Amino acid sequence: MTERVVIVGGGIAGVSTAGALRAGGFDGDVTIVDPGEFPYDRPPLSKDFLLGVKNGEQIALQPPRWYDDQRVRLVNRTAVTALHPAEGKVELSDGTVLLADRVVLATGGAAARPPIPGIGSERVHVLRTAEDADRLRPALAPGADVLVVGAGLIGAEVASTALRLGCEVTLVDPVAVPLTAALGPDLAAWLHGLHARHGITAVQAGVEAFADRGERIEARLAGESAARSYDAVVLGVGMVPHTGLAERAGLEVDRGIVVDAGQVTSHPHVLAVGDPARTRHDGVLLPRTEHWEAARHDGARAAATLLGAEAPAPTAPWFWTDRHGRHVEAVGHMDAAELTVVRGGFDDPSFAVFGLRDGFVVAAAAVDDSTAVRAARRMIDRRVPADAGKLADPAVNLRGLMRG
Ligand SMILES: Cc1cc2nc3c(=O)[nH]c(=O)nc-3n(C[C@H](O)[C@H](O)[C@H](O)COP(=O)(O)OP(=O)(O)OC[C@H]3O[C@@H](n4cnc5c(N)ncnc54)[C@H](O)[C@@H]3O)c2cc1C
Repeated sequence: MTERVVIVGGGIAGVSTAGALRAGGFDGDVTIVDPGEFPYDRPPLSKDFLLGVKNGEQIALQPPRWYDDQRVRLVNRTAVTALHPAEGKVELSDGTVLLADRVVLATGGAAARPPIPGIGSERVHVLRTAEDADRLRPALAPGADVLVVGAGLIGAEVASTALRLGCEVTLVDPVAVPLTAALGPDLAAWLHGLHARHGITAVQAGVEAFADRGERIEARLAGESAARSYDAVVLGVGMVPHTGLAERAGLEVDRGIVVDAGQVTSHPHVLAVGDPARTRHDGVLLPRTEHWEAARHDGARAAATLLGAEAPAPTAPWFWTDRHGRHVEAVGHMDAAELTVVRGGFDDPSFAVFGLRDGFVVAAAAVDDSTAVRAARRMIDRRVPADAGKLADPAVNLRGLMRG
């Protein structure tokens, strides 16, 4: 019987696991170990927290009393240094050893730092933690020349925030139109085009080298002979999952901690959730998801496994991003669509793109239209047959279409 669960990492995946355990009636000990002061949410780090309109307390995942109310022991300012699943032991950085019948690895990851010459300069920033954001904010002073490397989710949000803070922003990415697979080519191009329309210099290139010149930093872009000069550089080029603990404990790791549909790793007493977890489905390793909601769902599934309860039904993957005052949401797999239809126009205050295949919605992405994405999600999850013409007609109520 499981009496003691130790959760390694206090991100959304770890805290969701703890919450779902209690919601499911688990009465044993639940401990979360995290090196930070308190568990906080990461999406605001590139948005309101970086902007300075939200402080640390305002991005806490739970208020302090939640841990008492839920009887969740928070061991903060401490890291787990080793797991011994066969012995049911977890070693902490302060030398303490915790006993655990089950361990949940919710260790997230670190911002990627590719091996570009000069990348170790103090003027090169990354953004994964609140400390990273605190260090970056003063570099985004009004008038500062800032180079953002990577125009995916985090890079694009940082570029938008830096612009709002009054910086001169250059955004480089070797990919002509980022997020095409997730949003479809037209919406992705429109979204990427927002940067230039708001005054960001968007350049299609990779960075070959940085050179710290004391007061400034130079960046040499592929295909350019002269280096460009900036006050600061921010990298938004992906993340590297924290798999070290799992590897050292002898668990199966393959560019992620390999788990089954119940989040169980190759050791039956260790589960993994969130960004570092990689699911094997029907013998095939799926790509890791690096989105907030997926991490939360992993926590719910891990809790169900620990409780011996039925796992919550899977739902189509969903994420959001905010930039230049526009809120974008996407659900499903746009790259699986054979037909896309647009509801509204790209110049409208809000609009949505639906991706269809074989008469069913397989994806949707929308700008300032959460309702459309919610409707699409229901249609995907419930396999409701879709009429492309009706979806494209803003006069047709989506509620009616959700029922098929
Ligand atoms: C700047 C930023 C903006 C984002 N914006 C969005 C967005 O708009 N929409 C969206 O869908 N997703 C967004 N994401 C992605 C989303 O935040 C992540 O998918 C989510 O945070 C993953 O949660 P997690 O719990 O798996 O990992 P994390 O949030 O990384 O939490 C892992 C925790 O484990 C701790 N840890 C690591 N090793 C140990 C150890 N050995 N011992 C103890 N603790 C350890 C870490 O310190 C950390 O606190 C954003 C991410 C970032 C960084």
